[in-house]
Amino acid sequence: MTQYTKSNHSDTARSLAQAVRQFVDTHIIPAEAELVTAGEASPLSKQLNRMAREAGLWGLFYPLSHGGKIASLEDYLLVAEQEGRTEFSSVIFGTHSALDAHILLKFGTEELQQQFLQPLAKGLAVSAYGMTEPDHGGSFPSLISTSAQLINGQWLINGRKWFICNTDRATFVTVLARTGAPDVPIHQALSMIIVPTNTSGFKVERQLSLLGRHLGQGEMSFTNVQVPESYLLGDCGAGIALMGQRLNTGRLLRAMNWVGLAQRCCELMGVRIHSERGVASRFADKQLIRQHLVTAHHAISSARELIRLAARGVDAGYPNDVDINIAKMAASQAICTASDSAMQLYGAEGLSELTPIEGIYRIARTSRILDGSDEALISSVGRKLMDYYQDGGYYHFD
Ligand SMILES: Cc1cc2nc3c(=O)[nH]c(=O)nc-3n(C[C@H](O)[C@H](O)[C@H](O)COP(=O)(O)OP(=O)(O)OC[C@H]3O[C@@H](n4cnc5c(N)ncnc54)[C@H](O)[C@@H]3O)c2cc1C
Repeated sequence: MTQYTKSNHSDTARSLAQAVRQFVDTHIIPAEAELVTAGEASPLSKQLNRMAREAGLWGLFYPLSHGGKIASLEDYLLVAEQEGRTEFSSVIFGTHSALDAHILLKFGTEELQQQFLQPLAKGLAVSAYGMTEPDHGGSFPSLISTSAQLINGQWLINGRKWFICNTDRATFVTVLARTGAPDVPIHQALSMIIVPTNTSGFKVERQLSLLGRHLGQGEMSFTNVQVPESYLLGDCGAGIALMGQRLNTGRLLRAMNWVGLAQRCCELMGVRIHSERGVASRFADKQLIRQHLVTAHHAISSARELIRLAARGVDAGYPNDVDINIAKMAASQAICTASDSAMQLYGAEGLSELTPIEGIYRIARTSRILDGSDEALISSVGRKLMDYYQDGGYYHFD
């Protein structure tokens, strides 16, 4: 007799999701309090990373040709949400760098793949992506002023980038820089160029903490940095198009992790409700406590299905901006709602370092700005929807 499942994921994804869940519960969650102070670059984090590799659970969404085990974004949802149940998964499971691996495979020449993708896939390199700048709103890439000029077969790069993930560890940065003259239309004016962080003129200016905790972001500068012409990713002037492709997958990968953290908040609410303290307070009998759980559950299950729908479009080669951005906003809403509810149920303890909720709450708050602020996404989705409804037209939901 076949067992009923709510979705059509592969057996591989199901068994990996189970193994990741067990690894998170057994090895990472008990170490979370220590990881808060030790940080993601600590020996403890490296040890957990080694253990994940030994268990065959590292880099699961890397391209199949480079050690990955799951080919489709939709299938990966099941695993990514389990990886996402802890805020420390990125380094331990290599989730953040999977996106760079896919971009390098798709747009990198053989030379770039050998130099950057292969070490990345072996865990010997760490990638970063440099788009946001201190002097201009990150929501407006047309204002990017970091420049790259091609002189005698070398790119000469000058500029600054900030709030860049992995600033403390990156061995190379994919920099979004202006290669076109000021009068060149923006869709042909920017390019992506890879800069190894040991290149002369590259400097980490400072680390930046977010809401009081260092999460790996920092500021970097490029002063007369020179890299070979062949370090260009994709075509010259195609930076905006590449950025769009990167964001499509990147937003969904993060959204999957966020629904994982939101699920963790529901689990934590469950622990509190059924704890001795929760039983003594008769939490289970109180409608307002039930409402916290139902509202969070509603937000999570809606976000999961929106992510699934958007991921299916990306897998099929038909990424739909409306679906992707709505899914990202829904996942952000899910983690914001669930972490706020969990914090409320735990009372003062929820605000303190005694539970993981404050860390999840911090991530939840970043989700409304990272990878496109709420307003920027609403603005662009709203414009697209208005176009659909022009001249009596409508949006095809299926
Ligand atoms: C945890 C974290 C990790 C990050 N990692 C990276 C990274 O690895 N690489 C990288 O390049 N960047 C990274 N960033 C930066 C991130 O991409 C930017 O913060 C984001 O694009 C927004 O840009 P900004 O901060 O410059 O805000 P701005 O663009 O200045 O926007 C500020 C505010 O302006 C308003 N606004 C913007 N657009 C509109 C609009 N269309 N309509 C109405 N109001 C609007 C909104 O209120 C918005 O929040 C990271 C940020 C965070 C928080």
